Amino acid sequence: MKNSGQEMLASAQTLIRETGKRIGLTESVINQLIAPDLILEFSLPFTKGDGTVEVYQGYRVQHNKLRGPYKGGIRFHPGVSREEVLALATLMTIKSAVVGIPMGGGKGGLRIDPHSWTQESLKQISKLYAAKLAPFMGEDLDVPAPDMNTNAMIMGWMLDAYELVKQKKEPAAFTGKSIARGGSLGRTSATGYGGVIALEELIKRSQGHKQSPLTIAIQGFGNVGYYFAEAAARNGHLIVAISDSKGGLYTGEAVNRLPTEPVGLDIPFVFQCKEKHRGIGLCDNQKGMMITNEELLQLPVDVLVPAAMENVIHAGNMSNIHAPIIIEMANGPITEEARRYLTDKGVIIVPDVLANAGGVIVSYLEWVQGKQGYWWTEEEVAEKLATIMKQAFSNVWDRASDHKIDLKTAAFEQALLRLADAI
Ligand code: NAD
Repeated sequence: MKNSGQEMLASAQTLIRETGKRIGLTESVINQLIAPDLILEFSLPFTKGDGTVEVYQGYRVQHNKLRGPYKGGIRFHPGVSREEVLALATLMTIKSAVVGIPMGGGKGGLRIDPHSWTQESLKQISKLYAAKLAPFMGEDLDVPAPDMNTNAMIMGWMLDAYELVKQKKEPAAFTGKSIARGGSLGRTSATGYGGVIALEELIKRSQGHKQSPLTIAIQGFGNVGYYFAEAAARNGHLIVAISDSKGGLYTGEAVNRLPTEPVGLDIPFVFQCKEKHRGIGLCDNQKGMMITNEELLQLPVDVLVPAAMENVIHAGNMSNIHAPIIIEMANGPITEEARRYLTDKGVIIVPDVLANAGGVIVSYLEWVQGKQGYWWTEEEVAEKLATIMKQAFSNVWDRASDHKIDLKTAAFEQALLRLADAI
């Protein structure tokens, strides 16, 4: 049986191969677009506080730079594998090309569980990782960003180590940094806000689906889930369910209320309460009910937003999914088998390579600002994000409508045509 990294890699490569054939790319071009440029696999011996030395496994995959420097996050997670990093790097190549930014695809990973680390140890291992990769990085070569369990502080530490090796200032070599270290305003919220822009574009165009306000269930209440929920609620939609790793809240069956009168959660309240109590169980301002993550996925809502983990919608639960619209905010939350099944049933799926591209778009804007040494206001960044997202959505939607194909296939076609043009 394949592990989740192998499954994600097989799905991405199959889609590229099938889509490439349909749009008339030759076998040779398809092979060039699938093969990674470089896979760096290395060990990091690390001396812990008690003097013992542990060896950790690190990766950086530089998948493709036909359209610009390799671009992609660095993930710290015990499940990191070669296949997972390669799959995510491949999807970054597609994502950058779908939204039309001059960036390629890359991804990095370190196999550790950062939750068990002290801040000082995390700083040391982050610097070691960056110093090891420094000869292969740079603003015009490979530009990392945060991913799962990495953040602006870690990017700052990595930039320090990188600049020490290179003996020069180069803020555009890493994105997702703090503002003090040359980050961009609007980066933190970019992925969630970008997803809501995609949702609004979809509502404008889709016929036969309920118009705004919509009921929305969101799996995941981290960076992506929070900002998606906050922006969607601000636009008047009702967030009727949201979850973290321990479970979720659902307001649809609140006491003294008919299920036909849905109400939304107060997202800033739930967030502050979750921070205080280290879980969202006590934070239901609507007196709804606690549900499991599996139950959340199966709710009868207008829009389902998986914004936490990969492969959460699969052969085992696909027939129980009731939402007519799914916005893929996590990377790879739907297995290929489930995607085909749901698409055949008429479910509209806005694919991850489009829906969650807000993060890489503002990373690109941060890179541009860092390279020119001139920073934009938050409004300017938000406006540029909206312009790029809307254009990308429009291109993918029109291609899907013209060719009577689903949005994921259309997004891959769009990306592969742009990449093939650059060979
Ligand atoms: P995060 O670490 O900030 O938040 C993850 C959330 O998922 C948390 O609320 C956590 O409690 C929850 N979670 C963890 N395990 C879970 C489980 N088994 N079931 C349900 N919920 C669970 O991460 P994030 O930055 O919000 O990223 C979420 C997803 O979005 C990932 O797939 C990531 O690759 C993808 N993504 C993130 C960005 C970005 O800019 N942060 C950009 C593109 C894609």
